[in-house]
Amino acid sequence: MPIYIARLPRDERGFPIPFFAPTIDGKKSFAVSDSSKRLKCAKHRLCWICGQRLSLLIAFVGGPRCVEIQAFSDGPMHVDCAIYAVKVCPWMALPEYKKRMFEHLGDPDSVIEPKKPDMNAVCITNGFKVTTGKNWVFIPFTILDIQWWKDGVRQEKFTSKDP
Ligand SMILES: [Zn+2]
Repeated sequence: MPIYIARLPRDERGFPIPFFAPTIDGKKSFAVSDSSKRLKCAKHRLCWICGQRLSLLIAFVGGPRCVEIQAFSDGPMHVDCAIYAVKVCPWMALPEYKKRMFEHLGDPDSVIEPKKPDMNAVCITNGFKVTTGKNWVFIPFTILDIQWWKDGVRQEKFTSKDP
């Protein structure tokens, strides 16, 4: 577990509570992402998972559609935090885990990939900008490397039939 994630507060099950998780009815919800946190990550260059300041290399995680159009709705991450997320996040790592509230709180239209993608890409870049408007997204600078992950396992090649 990356050190920044190890330092996160834990829920009652002992799972680290990611930075993006909002509090709903007094409980942290891992299945929803908080749009105010998205804004914080963009403004202050914070990691979406651990909430700490980003370093030189930044990762974005998304499905094939995100990679194709080079736009991501989830915030920027440390490379280590992104890889940890695709390995252990129930949404990304477990094929049977199909439920997720896609809505960013208060920003229900900012969804690029409304269906759970087959594969997730960890796209490594050296910076990003954001688009303007209500449904703003993150646009990475140069993509330096792409790792494809499926069900928590790194893939040698991109093998999705539906890119
Ligand atoms: Zn991080």
